[in-house]
Amino acid sequence: MKQFMTAGGVKRRVLIVDDEIINLELLGAMLSESFDADFASNGEEAMAALTAPGADYSLILLDLMMPVMDGFEVIERCQANEQLRRIPIIVMTAEKSAEVRSIRMGAADFITKPYDMPEIILARCERIIELSEDKSIIRSTERDKVSGLYTREYFFAYLDRLLTRLDVPADALVLNIDRFHLINELFGREEGDRVLRRAGELITEELSRSRGIACRSESDTFFIFSEHREDYEPLAERLQEELSRSTQARQLRLRIGIFALGDDPDPESWFSRAKAACDRIRGKFGVLTARYNHELYEQTVFHERLIGDVQDAIENRQFVVYYQPKYHIQGERPVLGSAEALIRWIHPELGFISPGEFIPLFEQNGLIRRVDHFVWREAASQIRRWRDMYGVNIRVSVNVSRVDIADPELETKLLNILDEFSLSPDDLLLEITESAYSDNGDRLIEIVNALRNRGFKIEMDDFGSGYSSLNMLTEIPIDVLKLDMQFIRRMLNDERNLKLVELVMDIAGFLGVPVVAEGVEEEEQLKVLRDMGCQVVQGYYFSPPLPADRFSELVEKECQSLNDE
Ligand code: C2E
Ligand code: CA
Ligand code: CA
Repeated sequence: MKQFMTAGGVKRRVLIVDDEIINLELLGAMLSESFDADFASNGEEAMAALTAPGADYSLILLDLMMPVMDGFEVIERCQANEQLRRIPIIVMTAEKSAEVRSIRMGAADFITKPYDMPEIILARCERIIELSEDKSIIRSTERDKVSGLYTREYFFAYLDRLLTRLDVPADALVLNIDRFHLINELFGREEGDRVLRRAGELITEELSRSRGIACRSESDTFFIFSEHREDYEPLAERLQEELSRSTQARQLRLRIGIFALGDDPDPESWFSRAKAACDRIRGKFGVLTARYNHELYEQTVFHERLIGDVQDAIENRQFVVYYQPKYHIQGERPVLGSAEALIRWIHPELGFISPGEFIPLFEQNGLIRRVDHFVWREAASQIRRWRDMYGVNIRVSVNVSRVDIADPELETKLLNILDEFSLSPDDLLLEITESAYSDNGDRLIEIVNALRNRGFKIEMDDFGSGYSSLNMLTEIPIDVLKLDMQFIRRMLNDERNLKLVELVMDIAGFLGVPVVAEGVEEEEQLKVLRDMGCQVVQGYYFSPPLPADRFSELVEKECQSLNDE
């Protein structure tokens, strides 16, 4: 085993503090090959050793429960002392709540008793010393304050070290709490923090049974590196049950993606694969775990390909904008009123790619901004063309992604496009999906207000699909409600859905905004909607989305019949 030396080749000194001799012996045996170990059997002895002339400890391993002076007091005294504060402290405890408390007080890390994983303990000690000596890494970044787990940065640094010692099969896991943002929204941030803290505790507990380490990678996502096990599904169920018990949020759900380590040497990529597996079961009821497999591998490769090809696709016009007509249905006969612009990707090698495939992908990495900008410009130029060709105003709705909402340039970009084609905000309607509200409601309210002040009309897309539909209506002034397609699909076979559609019509009537029903495929649906007072319908019943020239034929026909009347 290699020794952990200072630059001068001297072993570093470690102070081990515990009132139980057996623990001192155990730890001493584990560490003595790499370190010079000194011992103290209570807090007072420890303070004496630490403040003795010439003392130069690199690390303190500290038991919390001790006679005379306990570990908490030692932490407190060290924190109060300019010199001693620099020595990292690893707390040794069997008690979960004490860990969190000591981390908050300033301890760098903790080790759980009993000590049955010498290599992990040793790696931890080395890592902590390394970090405390590396002035560029601030101590407070080792542990995530909320969950008590490592921070992502530290996790990967530590994993690196661990891997040189661990020679058993292992798995990379990504654990995600489903719809976590809703807990924050509905019950407040404190409740959200409570759930994250509990998740951290449960994961730590689990890892005291099998070897491993964990971190919180971002808000509600945890990375876990674990010795291989077979029981992930029951484990996930257990965690989910325990976690649900700690919150008022009913039906809390979690997902775990699993990647079994193979030859790939890059830890970051293990976790991005585990994450891909985890993402695949988002929203799938009753499935808590998913393994990364070949199919997913191919999907990942495919997605990477799409990401790489975007720029080319924009430059070479592989993206094509289709237009789906919207009809006004309250008159004697349906009248073509406007259109929705829907993107298509005709890839030179991969063929036709549906937006359902690439839009969510591009939303994840922000590329959607460029794609949407392209679509808006295309749509604007088409409106201009129709106006010049037929003298008619066909208004076009464009989709504004949740990601565009966060773009501070959004308003400017839209105005520039209108300017370029001498159009007004009236001509371009903006469809914003309802679920953008649950991402960041305040920002959405702000931007919707700003855009409406400029004269843009806002259509709330997929209305009724989210959790905050009604809530949102009271806060966001909108111009059109676009009913989620699912309602229309189920409306005729399911009385409750029919009632819901009626309810939405009533609400819209009360707010004085028209309702667009999309996904209308059958005459019967059309009739029912018309009788309910729905003004505008979009769907295969009238027409699928069409390329611009085919849509132009519709416009021509419409002009013709208008002239005939
Ligand atoms: P969306 O905005 O809800 O668009 C409506 C989708 O329903 C379109 O699918 C349309 O082709 C489809 N549809 C229309 N009528 C019917 C019908 O009668 N029956 C059925 N089953 N489907 C119908 P599409 O074009 O595949 O687009 C899927 C989603 O991709 C869109 O949902 C939208 O969220 C997104 N999307 C499409 N183009 C763009 C774009 O340019 N920018 C952004 N950000 N998102 C886009
Ligand atoms: Ca839409
Ligand atoms: Ca929609």
